[in-house]
Amino acid sequence: MVQVRIVGMGNVVSELNSIQITHWKSGLFFVEKEIKRGILPQKTDTNSWAYSDSILETTFSKMKFTSKADITFFILDAPIEENYLTRILSENRIVVTYYNVKQVLQKENIPLENYLLSCIYTYVLLFLARKNETLTLADEEDIFHDYFEGCLFDMCGNKSEVIYKCVQPIICEQCRAYLISKGVTKDDVNIAVKEQKKLKRILYYRIVHWLKIHPYLAFFISCFIAFLLNIFANYFTRLF
Ligand SMILES: [Zn+2]
Repeated sequence: MVQVRIVGMGNVVSELNSIQITHWKSGLFFVEKEIKRGILPQKTDTNSWAYSDSILETTFSKMKFTSKADITFFILDAPIEENYLTRILSENRIVVTYYNVKQVLQKENIPLENYLLSCIYTYVLLFLARKNETLTLADEEDIFHDYFEGCLFDMCGNKSEVIYKCVQPIICEQCRAYLISKGVTKDDVNIAVKEQKKLKRILYYRIVHWLKIHPYLAFFISCFIAFLLNIFANYFTRLF
């Protein structure tokens, strides 16, 4: 089992349901029960007001933890180098930003936790493919793809596409083959696929979403229900 640590570096962490994250049941990883907190430097160091890999490396390397984790996720709500969603830094430190992502998720009524969990699955699988060694940027460049099909390893050049990685993402055939070629077992890939089916919208919004994409069916169902109610109403009227 891969041990995962979460460190919140911005306000967005206080908006997450930390219990859902730290108590997530997985056959691949477990998350430390306490989400640690840290502080970002006051000033960014790029022309685009983003934090560079360099300044984040310096900041994170100064933070000391008593426990030993295989992967540490640093959660931000600020822009990072080249406006990426995630970055791999040294010693299996992964930066995950909610910058421009939080609004997209909220607009689509997708829980913010889904995005972090989706990122955890992504890098846990890469960690297993790396045979439990240190991840590098090359590891994600080898598997992330520009074509888009709701796969865990979609690049999401357009940040609005991130919603498809946050609601029951798939692992496409090409990525599955790549992971297995790198030594990840079929069982572990299947576990990831199965567990990701639990990444859903909350029930009310699932119903709303279903109605949106099936308007005609929803119309006929509502007509059918109205018809049934009419029959029941007539039946009970005759009884009394
Ligand atoms: Zn893929």
